[in-house]
Amino acid sequence: MMNILFPAQELPVSAEVDVVVAGGSCTGVFAAITAARGGAAVAIVESQNRFGGTATAGQVCLWHSLLNFDYSRQIIFGLTPEILERMDKRDLVEYWKKPNPHWYANFNSEEMCCELDEMVLEAGIIPFLHTRVAGVWQNDNGKIGGLVIAGKDGLTVIKARYIIDATGDGDVVRFAGGKMWKNEEIQTSTACVKFSKFPREVMHDETIGKLVRAAKEKYRMPCGVIWGEFSCNSDTFMLAGTNIPKLDVSVQKELTEAEMESRRQMRAIADILKDAGYPRPVMEAVPSLIGVRESRHIVSLYRITEDELLSGKQFPDEAGKGTYRSDVHRRNPPGTRFRYLDGTEVLLTSDAPPQTSYWRDPSLPTPEYFTWPIRSQIPVGFDNLITAGRMIDADAGAFGALRVMVNMNQSGEAAARLVLRAMKTGTTLPSAAASENL
Ligand SMILES: Cc1cc2nc3c(=O)[nH]c(=O)nc-3n(C[C@H](O)[C@H](O)[C@H](O)COP(=O)(O)OP(=O)(O)OC[C@H]3O[C@@H](n4cnc5c(N)ncnc54)[C@H](O)[C@@H]3O)c2cc1C
Repeated sequence: MMNILFPAQELPVSAEVDVVVAGGSCTGVFAAITAARGGAAVAIVESQNRFGGTATAGQVCLWHSLLNFDYSRQIIFGLTPEILERMDKRDLVEYWKKPNPHWYANFNSEEMCCELDEMVLEAGIIPFLHTRVAGVWQNDNGKIGGLVIAGKDGLTVIKARYIIDATGDGDVVRFAGGKMWKNEEIQTSTACVKFSKFPREVMHDETIGKLVRAAKEKYRMPCGVIWGEFSCNSDTFMLAGTNIPKLDVSVQKELTEAEMESRRQMRAIADILKDAGYPRPVMEAVPSLIGVRESRHIVSLYRITEDELLSGKQFPDEAGKGTYRSDVHRRNPPGTRFRYLDGTEVLLTSDAPPQTSYWRDPSLPTPEYFTWPIRSQIPVGFDNLITAGRMIDADAGAFGALRVMVNMNQSGEAAARLVLRAMKTGTTLPSAAASENL
């Protein structure tokens, strides 16, 4: 890429706070609320017109179990159940087959952004929507002193003592020159789409997936697992049927290409249904954000592995708990590999029935849940920057289990708790040398 010289300029300061959160998915909002409720002055910066990230702008309306592996007790607390309870009062959540092992909450994505607005304002957070973090500002000591943001006022700065990077791709860490890495096989991205008049008889992978796979040459459809769900109390069907296997959406050019290609595929799915003799479903809403399962990861104080995670290893600096299976959407061969805490492995591919086996001896005790250390969220080389969300330092299998929102939400809350601790003691965030004191 050619470089040009951009003249030095004075930037206005939009806000001066204790904590600034970059990225306003539920992960970022929950980090901001935790910090604000703990007494910090907080600002949050989100590039979309709404908070919620994948859960709202990306239309993914499902959260997984808050219970332990045998569903006998709740293990996830905090803002995830709090927002669901708030929404439930307006009948905006369906708890599917409660307390079945596949229990999850199906919520109204559109109203979740309204709920998040209310929670942000109640907590006294300074919100910046339609605003993108474009760089970091380093103060005279060479320390990150805040974020450079780009919005309707042009480039401005939010000065802050602590920064929480919840941008998914780890933009702040990258702008600050932090080390990052990518898994050999990055999980595919998928843009969801909302249809009305979607034929209920083809709503599962074995039916809609079969039709799409049969038409894959004609419509240039890369085939992964297709799933969908009717939105809570609605006839609108959210279909996760597009598949972007080759592009890295943390790269600007490839993100653009991925958004446009996924919209081509949404339309193709409607055409495929029509070709198969169904009334063409009506496209009601395309997301303003492609669903990204994975992009870059940070180099942190501790990279967590699948073996550690799924064997239920306990960490003294536990950031959160979870039970979601390791769920890896593979590019090659296209399909999904699930690994469960009890040792079961299930392979779903586009052209064979599900294959079940064991990834470890099933007679070994099944952990009640997994945990991860906050060290996996702390990038090496900084003392006032921490991350929350899918840039977590985890190998492919561990990441497959961690990446879902009930876990990422907790990563936001955990990051803010650590920041509050540092803020109240007037200290920095732990560096590699101090990490054993966590
Ligand atoms: C199709 C699909 C289905 C899925 N299904 C489920 C499911 O059923 N349940 C589940 O729990 N999880 C599911 N996941 C996984 C889950 O959605 C993601 O792993 C999770 O949302 C990651 O959360 P995050 O907060 O780290 O990132 P994101 O949700 O990607 O949020 C990042 C936020 O930061 C903002 N941002 C990014 N860069 C900047 C910047 N420079 N400046 C300002 N703002 C910025 C973005 O706009 C966004 O709001 C699914 C994912 C996909 C793709």
